[in-house]
Amino acid sequence: MTGFPQLDAFRGGPGLVRLVGHRGARGVMPENTMEGFAFTLLAGVSLLEFDVVLTRDGVPVVTHNHHLDGAATRDAAGNWLMGQGPRVAELTLNELHGYDVGGVDVRSSYGRQFCDQVLLDGVRVPCLGDLLDLGHDPRFADLHFLLELKSDPALRDDARAREAFVAAIVAKVRDRGMAGRTILHSFDWHLLDVCRRAAPEMPTSCLSQMPETVDALCAGGLSGFVSQDCSLPRMVADAGGQLWCPNVEDVTPELVAEARRLDLIVLAWTVNETGDIDRMIEAGVDGIVTDYPGRAQHRLRLRGARW
Ligand code: MG
Repeated sequence: MTGFPQLDAFRGGPGLVRLVGHRGARGVMPENTMEGFAFTLLAGVSLLEFDVVLTRDGVPVVTHNHHLDGAATRDAAGNWLMGQGPRVAELTLNELHGYDVGGVDVRSSYGRQFCDQVLLDGVRVPCLGDLLDLGHDPRFADLHFLLELKSDPALRDDARAREAFVAAIVAKVRDRGMAGRTILHSFDWHLLDVCRRAAPEMPTSCLSQMPETVDALCAGGLSGFVSQDCSLPRMVADAGGQLWCPNVEDVTPELVAEARRLDLIVLAWTVNETGDIDRMIEAGVDGIVTDYPGRAQHRLRLRGARW
């Protein structure tokens, strides 16, 4: 019993490895789209990871970068933007909805990684509220949200703006009645401190990637958590997180065991290759965050495991 009922949906166990759809199912469906989220849920994967930023008019929307990615965005005439697109924070929701995010340009280096993704027309960046409302669909009663807050580097020192960003997201989650099914997730561990104050009813999830995470913690004043003998799970526990989400390359069975002793849930990302899926299962993680939920389902089924 943790006091956070939403954690149970993410906790693995013997013969149970949780699957989390990364940006929906980025390997096969346009990322961070309602179409991709619906596909993932209908495929029997009820945990969704996605990214949230604010528009100029303060609407929380689901998209990965602060700038629209030109390799995954077309203008009203259907042309790829190419390169870096406009900043979401400088667009109103109405302006943002003038762009189509239903696929990738397979000529780009980004698009070449996802050339099996379907190409759809007329797909809009979702509002966070619309995604949360899927939780009210009786077909998706098990749906839980791993909501990544993308902190804006331009506002790193603006405490008021950071609090307003968190407040807008928390208000939306509460308004849609999904606080009990949401985990707040970020690479920015300082922002997660803001989350814990603003929303004590929602657990927090610390993303990490070595060595960038320790560098960022030192630069941001959390260096007290960082020392030669201080492991990432210990840092997450000391920082107040309930989940540790390491890059797949940083996961070892020893670190997973330590995280368990600290009562942390471990979700590895982004676990796409079959060898990595197998390695994460053997390391004992609670769950894997993947662009290819179907591929992961097959690996688990072959081992007699559920998700
Ligand atoms: Mg993310």
